[in-house]
Amino acid sequence: MTRAALNFPEFAPGSVWLVGAGPGDPGLLTLLALHALESADVVVYDALVAPTILKLARQGAVLEHAGKRGGKPSMQQPDISLRLIALAREGKRVLRLKGGDPFVFGRGGEEGLALARAHIPFRIVPGITAAIGGLAYAGIPATHRDTNSAITFITGQTSGGVLPTAVDWEAMARGTAVLVIYMALKNLDAIARRLIAAGRPADEPVAIISKATTDEQRVVETTLANAAKDAADAALEPPALIAIGPVVTLRRELDWLGQLAANTLPRAR
Ligand code: SAH
Repeated sequence: MTRAALNFPEFAPGSVWLVGAGPGDPGLLTLLALHALESADVVVYDALVAPTILKLARQGAVLEHAGKRGGKPSMQQPDISLRLIALAREGKRVLRLKGGDPFVFGRGGEEGLALARAHIPFRIVPGITAAIGGLAYAGIPATHRDTNSAITFITGQTSGGVLPTAVDWEAMARGTAVLVIYMALKNLDAIARRLIAAGRPADEPVAIISKATTDEQRVVETTLANAAKDAADAALEPPALIAIGPVVTLRRELDWLGQLAANTLPRAR
């Protein structure tokens, strides 16, 4: 079957697609994201999007870093939305490319609302969010029948960098057996303390997954009490996720990536 038979929607001039690029590995892009990259006139991308993914853009497409424009660092969120609207009004096919999934801690909601209110046609293309891709590449199942029937995704940081007050950490601690925290590296010590104070065991298994699904992926297995210290000792770099809960121990047998690297996986016959 050729790709044409998939009948992708037309990327119409004057419209904006908010697209998730997945956590890093280009192989985790969706076909629709690839189609968007091959059709767009302008790609407005975030820092988390891997350079190899940007190379898939159509030749001649303009690549614009949402963080920096015209040498000016750190464009603010309303500026990005206004930029998307301006480009669409110029009649461009505008691809807004974000790491992971655009609607998971990605401000896709804000940008979508701005487009809707400006009457710009838009489409949302989901991506594999870092928690799903990262846990899979670390060999940690997000759910397992023996351990958890629910999972919680939390942000560990507000836009200002501090611990979010909107997160009820006591309720989070009691809520589900498995927690995955985005943007948690900076506030890891405070988060771990709050969770332990709320009743999570100090020796609860934790995995810190840095640069998940990229060639530089690193995973540190630790406990809640030691997480911040071990992350610092290992000099783990962002972006990183923190997975907390009993599923982390399954990595001992399920770390397929480590086993492939060490050549210890049973051979396929
Ligand atoms: N929309 C994105 C999340 C953006 S918030 C998504 O759905 O994945 C940025 C946070 O995502 C980072 O601080 C980190 O916690 C997480 N993250 C994104 N890419 C990651 C990666 N490759 N490895 C580990 N964590 C990642």
